[in-house]
Amino acid sequence: MILHNERFTERDDAFVDIEDRGYQFGDGVYEFIRVYDGICFEMDSHMQRLKLSALKIELPLPYALEKITRNLTRLVEKNGLMNGFIYVQITRGVSQRMHHFPGNTTSVLVAYTQLGERPLEKTTHGIQAILTEDIRWKRCDIKSLNLLANVLAKQQAKKHGCDEAIMHRGSTVSEGSSTNVYIVERNVIYTHPINNLILNGITRIGVLQMARENGLRVVEEAFTVNELLEADEVFVTSTAIEICPVIRIDQTLIGTGQPGLVTRALQQAFEHRIVFNSGT
Ligand code: PMP
Repeated sequence: MILHNERFTERDDAFVDIEDRGYQFGDGVYEFIRVYDGICFEMDSHMQRLKLSALKIELPLPYALEKITRNLTRLVEKNGLMNGFIYVQITRGVSQRMHHFPGNTTSVLVAYTQLGERPLEKTTHGIQAILTEDIRWKRCDIKSLNLLANVLAKQQAKKHGCDEAIMHRGSTVSEGSSTNVYIVERNVIYTHPINNLILNGITRIGVLQMARENGLRVVEEAFTVNELLEADEVFVTSTAIEICPVIRIDQTLIGTGQPGLVTRALQQAFEHRIVFNSGT
């Protein structure tokens, strides 16, 4: 089943209007939420970010956050989803095509679930990445439907047999095409500060909290491409890839070319967070 506004329906019974503003302009916002053992992970943080993204583009939420949360949880139950994801998006709705807000539309919510196992192979052995210029706009803090630059960056990575494209504005590393990026230098973790140039990753929030709880020093300061390539460790985080070591970037081996100790320690702490989430 899928969720269309307030209605649970079969996928084939739902449709997208050709003049939905999400479809035509990317005029909407979304969230991608992990489900572990049938339970939504970091649901409240995702809902808060959804609300904030909507606010930033002056998009009225069609329902109270509590109601959206309840319906997403029901969707997971109805689909009997144990391990996977919820995708939820809200667009500014349907109207005759015009660039400015039409003013009289009703926001449209669509959500569905997707099966997905944990990315153990990647988190265990690490991934390879490419570097690419960050060509996105200056509101990357909004989780909007406009992902073309991210799509192009990820496609470039794929073409090179890599899993991620690490983006930089000039010499400054911003984030991955679908991840936040960190380096470890002498046991200190560095990552880009939260501002308009990166997404405030939900996994990032958890990782930085866990790092501090475990006595690791965290510095939320941007680093350069050179610092990235010369780091002891590099890792990326996201809802989908969790905490994943990056062992090679373009032609450069990172550290020893093996997942690093700090990354491993954070991965272990993350396991506890997942277990705690499921209440087992
Ligand atoms: N940055 C970008 C550009 C992303 O698309 C994502 C994935 N949503 C992230 C960072 C990581 O965010 P999260 O941890 O909330 O999945």
